[in-house]
Amino acid sequence: MATTVALEDVWNLIGGERVPARAGTFEKLRPADGTLLCHVASSGSEEVAAAVSAAVAARPAWAARTPVERGEVIREIALALRVRRGEAAEIVVAETGKPLPLALGESDAAVEMGFFVAGEGRRLYGRTTTSSMPNRTVMATRRPVGVAALIVSFNTPLPNYAWKVFPALFCGNTAVLKPSEHTPASAAFFGELCQEFLPAGVLNVVHGLGSEAGPPLVDSPGVDLVSFTGSTETGRLINERAGRRLAKVALELGGKNALVVCDDADLERAVEWSLASAFSNAGQRCASASRLVVFDSVYDDFRDRFVESARSYETGPVISEASLERILGALAGARVLTGGTRLDRPGSWLAPTVLEDVAPDARLSCTELFGPVTILYRVRDLEEAIALVNDSPYGLTSAIQTASLHRAMRFADAVEAGVVVVNGGTHGSEPQMGFGGVKQSGTGWREAGVEALDVYTDWKYVNLIADPAQT
Ligand code: NAD
Repeated sequence: MATTVALEDVWNLIGGERVPARAGTFEKLRPADGTLLCHVASSGSEEVAAAVSAAVAARPAWAARTPVERGEVIREIALALRVRRGEAAEIVVAETGKPLPLALGESDAAVEMGFFVAGEGRRLYGRTTTSSMPNRTVMATRRPVGVAALIVSFNTPLPNYAWKVFPALFCGNTAVLKPSEHTPASAAFFGELCQEFLPAGVLNVVHGLGSEAGPPLVDSPGVDLVSFTGSTETGRLINERAGRRLAKVALELGGKNALVVCDDADLERAVEWSLASAFSNAGQRCASASRLVVFDSVYDDFRDRFVESARSYETGPVISEASLERILGALAGARVLTGGTRLDRPGSWLAPTVLEDVAPDARLSCTELFGPVTILYRVRDLEEAIALVNDSPYGLTSAIQTASLHRAMRFADAVEAGVVVVNGGTHGSEPQMGFGGVKQSGTGWREAGVEALDVYTDWKYVNLIADPAQT
C-alpha cells in the first residue's frame, strides 16, 4: 500500500542534536511502489565515534538516577508513543509497505514493551544468598553494563527499537541505536520522541549502511555491550569482531521455523495459523513458519486448502528489490504450488509462495529466505516430524497443531527451539515473555521478559561481614 506521508531527510541524533553525516546521504525507497521516500545520513566511523562519545559522556549521570526514576522516564516515552501511535504506524507503512493495521499493532506492541519495562522500576530484583561464614550477608545486585550498541533489523521496526532501547536505558546504560538502513524514518521518529524525555546523549541514533556504520560501532572501545537482532550471517561477523576485544555480545538471529500439523488437528484452524505464520508481514519475521510439516494421512487435504487460501492471501511487499531478487534466485528449480513470481505492479511484491518436494537437507530447506515462502513436508508420524523439525541449523520457534495433550507434551519436550506453541502460530510474542533461540538462532540470551535484564545488566556480588562484638 503506497502512502502519502511526506518525510524530511533523516539525519543522525547525536548528543541530543540532529546532525548530518560527512559522507552525505543514501536514498531510501518505498517498497510498495519503488518511489523515493527520503534521503538518509550515510554514517561511518566519524559519526559513530561522535555518538559513542556522547553516550560515554552521558553515562554517569544517567546511571546515577534511581531505577524508579528511569522507569518513570520510560513510562513517559511509552505514553507519548501511545498518543502518536497512528503517526508512527504511518511512517512504518511508508518505509516497509506493510498494511496499516499491522503497523498499528506494532506501535501498540512497542508501547506495551515500554509499560512492561517501566514496571521494572519498582522491582529490578536482586538476590541474597547464604554463607558458610557467620555474620556474612551476600547480595547479588544488578549494575548497568555501560554503553550499549543496539543494532536492529527492519522487519518490525518499532518493537525492535522498543525491545532494545527501553530495557537498555532502564537498566542505566546509555545507547547508540543503529537501525536498519531500510527503516530509517521510524528510527528517526522514535529517537526524537525519546529525546523529549531524555538528557542529551543518553540515546543516540546513527543511520547508515550496515557495512559502513556497523563495524566501527562494534569495534568501538567505548561500547561495552553489543545487542544485535538480525541475520545469522551478520551476527557471526559481529561476534567475531566484538569477541576480539571481549565485549559483551547478545545475538538474536534467524530462524527456519517449523509448524507441524498432526492427523488429529483442526485442519481449518491449522490452515489459518499456517497462513499467518508463513505470510503475515510478507514472511519477514524471525519467527515465520517457513516449514510446514504435515502428517501423511491429512497431507493432501491440508495442502489443497492451504494452497487455495495462499492464492488470495493479502500481504505487503518485501523490503527491497534486492531482497526480492535474492528470494526469486533461491526458488529457481523448486516445485512451486503457488506464487514464486513477483506481482505485476511497481514495488517489490512477491506472491505468497508454497513449495513442495524439497529435500530436508536441500539448501532451500536449511536457508532462511525472509520472505513469503514456505515449504510443505510429508511425514508418517510425530517422531518423524520431530526429527525433521530438529534437522535444521536453526532453533528459534516451533508450533504443533494437535488435539492430543500427549503429542503436545512430547513435541514440547523434544523440539530444539527456544519457543514452542501448541495450537497456534510460530510467531506472536509479548513483552513479559522471554524470546530467543538455540543453535544458530542466537547465543543463548533472551530478549523481552525479565530475561532482558540479564542482557543489559551485569551482576555484582556484595559481601557484608558484620562483627557482633561491635554492636
Ligand atoms: P541484517 O543482518 O542484514 O541486518 C541487521 C542489522 O545489522 C541492520 O541494522 C544492518 O544495517 C546491520 N548490519 C549489517 N551488516 C553489518 C555489519 N557488518 N556490522 C554491523 N552491523 C551490520 O538482517 P536484516 O535483513 O535487517 O533482518 C533479517 C534477519 O533478522 C533475519 O535473519 C531474521 O530472522 C532476523 N531477526 C531475528 C530476530 C530475533 O529476535 N531472533 C528478530 C527479527 C529479525
